[in-house]
Amino acid sequence: MDVLKQRIVRDGVALGTEILKVDSFLNHRIDVGLLAEIGAEFRRRFSDVAGEVDKILTVEASGIAVAAFAARSFDDVPVVFAKKAQPSTMDDEYFFSEIMSFTKRQMTAIRIAKKFLAAGDRCLVIDDFLAHGQAALGLLHIARQAGAEVLGAGFVIEKGFQGGGAKLREKGVRVESLAVVREIKDGQITFE
Ligand code: 5GP
Repeated sequence: MDVLKQRIVRDGVALGTEILKVDSFLNHRIDVGLLAEIGAEFRRRFSDVAGEVDKILTVEASGIAVAAFAARSFDDVPVVFAKKAQPSTMDDEYFFSEIMSFTKRQMTAIRIAKKFLAAGDRCLVIDDFLAHGQAALGLLHIARQAGAEVLGAGFVIEKGFQGGGAKLREKGVRVESLAVVREIKDGQITFE
């Protein structure tokens, strides 16, 4: 998606070789015009299954805005976002998964209330970033517990060099990333 790549080059800030900061349009201040275009692009990418999508799954907090705009392009299907919680709060009302956050360097439990995800639900996973794939794998784990089906996973930015995309594709998940970063080096961001 050229407009997105141009925006990343213009406004993205490289932190070392691993992290891309895009808080001026995606993660802190939100450019809603761009998010509307991103939502429409997800619809184009998943047009063959668009009529089958029942729900969009994401993880709080940064996935919510992207997922909500995507949902507008998928006939306003509901967005269900996994909440982050301490494992000690586990009970039977929730599906849980534990994921490693490489940016925060800690394990995080994510949970979705059982009443919001049912067997047979056909879902798209949508998130802002795909890095090591932990957040997406956690959502897949939760979907499996619920008996829900994941039709595919869409990401605004995939960092291709961190392996998450390969892990998801190995599991047979269809991945659509709107911008795939090949390398972050000397403050320069290059795309595949
Ligand atoms: P993963 O679970 O795939 O390792 O990482 C994805 C999650 O970590 C995303 O939901 C995103 O919030 C966060 N994340 C990973 N890498 C980056 C990055 O380079 N920049 C920002 N802003 N967030 C990131």
